[in-house]
Amino acid sequence: MSAEVLEKIAGKLDETDAFKEYRQRFVLRDGLIYLDGNSLGPMQKSVVNRMATTLGEEWAKGLIGSWNSAGWSNLGREAAEKLAPLVGAEPSSVSVGDSTSINLFKVLASAVQLRPDRRKIVSERGNFPTDLYMAHGLGAFLGKGHEVVLAESDEQLHELIDEETAVVMLTQVDFKTGRKLDMAAMTAHAQKHGALMIWDLAHSAGAFPVHLDQCGADLAVGCGYKYLNGGPGAPAFAYVNARHIGSVTQPLTGWFSHAAPFEFDPEYRPAGSIDQFNCGTLPVLGLTALDESLKIWSGIDLEALQEKSRVMTQFFIRCVDELVRDGELTLASPRDPQLRGSQVSYRHKKDAYAVVQAMIARGVVGDFRDPDIARFGFAPLYLRYTDVVKAAVHLSEVLESAEWQSEEFFTRKAVT
Ligand SMILES: *Cc1c(COP(=O)(O)O)cnc(C)c1O
Repeated sequence: MSAEVLEKIAGKLDETDAFKEYRQRFVLRDGLIYLDGNSLGPMQKSVVNRMATTLGEEWAKGLIGSWNSAGWSNLGREAAEKLAPLVGAEPSSVSVGDSTSINLFKVLASAVQLRPDRRKIVSERGNFPTDLYMAHGLGAFLGKGHEVVLAESDEQLHELIDEETAVVMLTQVDFKTGRKLDMAAMTAHAQKHGALMIWDLAHSAGAFPVHLDQCGADLAVGCGYKYLNGGPGAPAFAYVNARHIGSVTQPLTGWFSHAAPFEFDPEYRPAGSIDQFNCGTLPVLGLTALDESLKIWSGIDLEALQEKSRVMTQFFIRCVDELVRDGELTLASPRDPQLRGSQVSYRHKKDAYAVVQAMIARGVVGDFRDPDIARFGFAPLYLRYTDVVKAAVHLSEVLESAEWQSEEFFTRKAVT
């Protein structure tokens, strides 16, 4: 099938796209095909005005009074209210603030506390490294012989979970391949063996519906700057199932996790609510951008969004199948859209990094993941099908012209 025919199909899909009005709310310059919203979401236009007010009025003029008068002190709760429905949680189970890594430390520490007789933390070797590093760091710090046991495959994962397992800690969508785990089934499997289940939703929240409460997940974390478009280094979030709130104390017991921070009591009393998962003063500037960015989700049908993500990623695979010469790329993502998050990854034998750089030079922004993955994220909220075809056309041209072999594309930058 030719590029022209695929473009026609794309044009029709764009016309009937239920989300087509959302793109104009983002700053996305003409000609840019941004397939990296899974790594850093683009900015919404309204964020500029909101930040201008927060900086120029609330901080510059209102100064410390803005904690009360501008509602800074309630901003974390407001962001949690907007975020909770995206992950299928009650707002009273969601805390917003700190980075994903720090939230992971909090929820992991809480989980191992709830299973004092068990020493195994089960995860996957392919999990995002910060998750594994944090688990190792916590285990070493506790000094009680906790062991991080890593599965090499999904099959092995099931076998590793046993009566010694304190916690199963998994990222639902694999950051390299985009493989998506069945949250309900995996949670049930972990809990059947008496383990607690922690989910990292970095590549889930904002891409498709997540049902933490319904699945009975114990704890979870997620990222604010990927599909949630909260801005670079945006505050992340933690989820704690209602049955654990009040019975578990995370160890970063800063004053904002206290029952009454402004009593300045020398004795620690845990908040007894999800606020116990706060630590210190909330990052107001980052939180303001995140809170503004989250407004877009009110009224969005997440099932329909997931359907668009599936059609779109499937369409990209089809375009690549049709347009890219055989043997150039190997699909690293599951072909079945039910088993995939909102990204499509390909392996390139020689140098996926240079291929991605050559694409970026043409205005098609994806990213590279070591050692051989070219990764393309398809945030369904603002991407168009016509751009999907164009991206595949650029990919085929970059590969066939050997453009990617140009020397300038081989120098690795600090952030890939
Ligand atoms: C992006 C990502 C993170 C990011 O962690 P930070 O603390 O925000 O740097 C963590 N876990 C996973 C699975 C991710 O994809």
